[in-house]
Amino acid sequence: MGSELRRIHLATGNAHKVVEFQRLADESGLALEMVPARQMPEVVEDTGTFIGNARKKAQALQALLPANAWVLADDSGVCVDALGGLPGVESAYFAGPQHDGAANLGKLTEVMREVPEGRRGAHFLCVLVLRGPDGVEQVGEGRCEGVLGRAPRGGGGFGYDPLFIPHGHTRTYAELAEAEKNRISHRGRAFARLAQWLSGRSPFRSPPAT
Ligand code: IMP
Repeated sequence: MGSELRRIHLATGNAHKVVEFQRLADESGLALEMVPARQMPEVVEDTGTFIGNARKKAQALQALLPANAWVLADDSGVCVDALGGLPGVESAYFAGPQHDGAANLGKLTEVMREVPEGRRGAHFLCVLVLRGPDGVEQVGEGRCEGVLGRAPRGGGGFGYDPLFIPHGHTRTYAELAEAEKNRISHRGRAFARLAQWLSGRSPFRSPPAT
């Protein structure tokens, strides 16, 4: 009975995020099964905030599931100092409404071309909204500081990963092993906060060892 997996439904259509969440769940020590949305409903991300967009995604999926379901939604992005925090909440469609990760990366590389060293600071932000039965909601935020490289490097990860070099590292997010990225990433840190909350809460709390 102690090994029974507790399901959390993921309000995302992003396959990379699904992989990261399952890995984060596995590493959390909680017996969680992350269930990708079979069909994520179309959500217009128009609230202007990470938390507003994440809540909207969570509510949209929750509306399609049984009342006792738990849902986790993520809204995240990269905020660039030299661009006054852009693309930020608009990271997914920086290069246009088609949500094209390669085009977004190309545009950020280009826009930053003339920006000198010392002015290339950036951070990733992630806001997670976990919603459960009876209106329960818990929010977890995570941030990772770093700088932007001059050209994309590395084949791992997704989105802006090949351009982002986290502080304390010489490699980009896309050059780090998955577990290494998770340990320091905005999403990893946000998830750690939620995992801590879940670990004290039924039905996720591990049963006492017998
Ligand atoms: P969202 O799916 O609306 O939250 O959009 C997030 C966008 O921010 C993604 O499409 C990526 O462009 C970017 N992003 C968020 N998290 C990451 C990450 O871990 N690595 C690289 N890009 C990310």
